[in-house]
Amino acid sequence: MSDCLFCQIVAKEIPAEIVYETGRTLAFRDRNPQAPTHVLVIPKQHHRDAAELAGADDGLADDVLKTAHAVAVQEGVAEGGYRVVFNTGPGAGQTVFHVHAHVLGGRGLTWPPG
Ligand code: AMP
Ligand code: ZN
Repeated sequence: MSDCLFCQIVAKEIPAEIVYETGRTLAFRDRNPQAPTHVLVIPKQHHRDAAELAGADDGLADDVLKTAHAVAVQEGVAEGGYRVVFNTGPGAGQTVFHVHAHVLGGRGLTWPPG
């Protein structure tokens, strides 16, 4: 989708600090980090949100979760604990409608989140 911000990052049309990449996923640092580690993991293929990704019948959601964990290991937060968040829909705070997992870690994370 040419008007999608994250599709433009996949296409390298706008810059991002990419930290991990697989054939079907991309991970890059959030430009407004909420924790010492705050990385976004996306499927390269456009899906609107986690609900739509869940309906992709080809293991793509699996790939996104595996990349999220690989990022946590690479960032050194896997042992101490990290959080994977999909804001899904405007009521949950989703602002970019290309599904993305937030991988957050490197500080104490309170529960429940706001
Ligand atoms: P959400 O509110 O769950 O849709 O999350 C969108 C996230 O994308 C926010 O945390 C933004 O800081 C982040 N973001 C928006 N534009 C960019 C960008 N160009 N590069 C990196 N992160 C971005
Ligand atoms: Zn997109």
